[in-house]
Amino acid sequence: MADLPPLREVIAKHRLSASKALGQNFLFDAQLLDRIAAIPGDLQDNAVLEVGPGPGGLTRALLKAGARVTAIEMDKRCLPALTELGDAYPGRLRVIEGDALKIDHNELMGEPYRVVANLPYNVGTALFTRWLSGEGWPPQWISLTLMFQHEVAQRIVAEADSGAYGRLAVLAQWRSSAKLAMKVHRSAFTPPPKVMSAIIHVDPGEMPDGVSARMLERVTQAAFGQRRKMLRQSLKDVPRALEVLAALGIDPQRRAETLSVGEFVAIARALS
Ligand code: SAM
Repeated sequence: MADLPPLREVIAKHRLSASKALGQNFLFDAQLLDRIAAIPGDLQDNAVLEVGPGPGGLTRALLKAGARVTAIEMDKRCLPALTELGDAYPGRLRVIEGDALKIDHNELMGEPYRVVANLPYNVGTALFTRWLSGEGWPPQWISLTLMFQHEVAQRIVAEADSGAYGRLAVLAQWRSSAKLAMKVHRSAFTPPPKVMSAIIHVDPGEMPDGVSARMLERVTQAAFGQRRKMLRQSLKDVPRALEVLAALGIDPQRRAETLSVGEFVAIARALS
């Protein structure tokens, strides 16, 4: 195992004060970081994409677990610290400077990969939506292990008939399994954010036959766009949707949040 200085020394040496604009809340607790790196399972020789390594706390834990890491970071100030980390694990860390939202991850990785990231909320949700969208399935990624605000994590794993249930839950569950893997107290971060966090782990599952991802997205967008309204109102602009509800025996007086993921899939299949 490489002999590395404590993270707080690394931060001080490279003057890495956390930038609010970049959503920086760093993790320093090595034990916690090891536990996060263990969530995806054995990483020995696995290709891992880490988005937003910052000063490299999680990156260290991933390297220690035996992963080959590609890390995308947009804050130039972090690059010297990451270079030092790469020197301690020769040939195992590739650092890409840039905005992860503008990079084609599949092309960058060129092989099946796992994703592990502690990202700012808005970037995390945008990437999560992107990783879970599209017609091609299974995806090139093998698993996603991502830190979110606790409230967002609850929306991802929510079940039908709960207040947190919506588009994000359907997107995360219709052809994947998403679980809340760990809660992380706000005090674990420097500086501490205002709210609690949680780590979501996603494994891709089977794509249901005969369903277009675009159609499912269209139906959930319409249904949850007016979540307080009955389906006969919220889906009235989706061609043939009301006919399909009748054929499937789904009461048009129900509201979106009462429909299970399976029922959304059945509607999208009948419309696809
Ligand atoms: N992974 C580190 C940790 O756990 O201590 C840092 C986490 S901090 C919450 C988020 C990191 O993501 C920051 O280093 C920030 O500069 C970086 N970041 C923010 N937006 C990004 C983007 N669009 N692409 C790549 N990195 C980004």
